[in-house]
Amino acid sequence: MERLSKHLGGPRLWIKRDDCTGLSSGGNKTRKLEFLMGDALAQGAGTIITQGAIQSNHARQTAAAAARLGLECHLLLEDRTGNNAPDYTLNGNVLLDRLHGASVSKRPGGADMNAEMEALAADLRAKGKKPYVIPGGGSNPVGALGYANCALELVAQANERGLKIYHVIHATGSAGTQAGFVTGLVAINANIPVLGIGVRAPKEKQEQAVFDLAVRTAEYMGAPGIVKREHIAANTDYVGPGYGLPTEGMAEAVKLLARFEGILLDPVYTGKGMAGLIDLVRKGFFPKDSDVVFLHTGGSAGLFAYPDVFDLPTYS
Ligand SMILES: *Cc1c(COP(=O)(O)O)cnc(C)c1O
Repeated sequence: MERLSKHLGGPRLWIKRDDCTGLSSGGNKTRKLEFLMGDALAQGAGTIITQGAIQSNHARQTAAAAARLGLECHLLLEDRTGNNAPDYTLNGNVLLDRLHGASVSKRPGGADMNAEMEALAADLRAKGKKPYVIPGGGSNPVGALGYANCALELVAQANERGLKIYHVIHATGSAGTQAGFVTGLVAINANIPVLGIGVRAPKEKQEQAVFDLAVRTAEYMGAPGIVKREHIAANTDYVGPGYGLPTEGMAEAVKLLARFEGILLDPVYTGKGMAGLIDLVRKGFFPKDSDVVFLHTGGSAGLFAYPDVFDLPTYS
């Protein structure tokens, strides 16, 4: 990102475009779904159930993957933000969920979403269907394999161009991305530190969730014990008032990427992740002549659920 790097005065910032993963409007969940959907098909499932926030990118990519494979898809969407604006409840990812043919149903904030999915699965089984339940964010050891794969891909791409990566930064939520990514890096001794920028939980809780899932992923990969607690780092200073609630830093980051690089971020994850990266750059966290990679995890469809937070000029 030459123009953004110059604007911020270094380091050299690079971007790994997992917003271009191919299904629907892209995003990180597609890599997880490659393995989760493979598992569902191997088990003979015909119906997929998953859950997320109302503007869940994971739900939208699951709907798209199910469409691609000819599977039925049920999405349970939790009202985590209390935002009742029509753009929030019907536009953005929700518009795409319905366009991909999924059934969507809402649950109140704080509902036990795993229990809700199990209840729906029991109903569908009673009707003779074979449901496959995907946890929120696709974050279990099967889904995390997608990000172990991404780590191998990124290191191969860096090696091809002789790039020595000083640090990788990305937004972290349900933990599968960071858990899989770190496990992949550690498995090949890449020696590249990763920092997750939190969007919901406090630091201790976020790091513990990532570590626990990384340990299980390493076991599932056949490499038990390789991930240590010190491999896992999260910075949760950029959450602001809460999950899915806008911050000034997020709005600035979304606008900077749009105007300096022609790249779309999102209000819930990558906008806050990039706000963290920008702030750390300004604080001198990275040497000026180093190469830092932002892993773009997608989410741009969510922009259309938040049309009023960017303070944009109207027609001139
Ligand atoms: C889900 C998501 C994340 C976080 O990934 P996790 O694996 O849940 O930690 C980051 N960015 C976007 C756009 C997402 O949709």
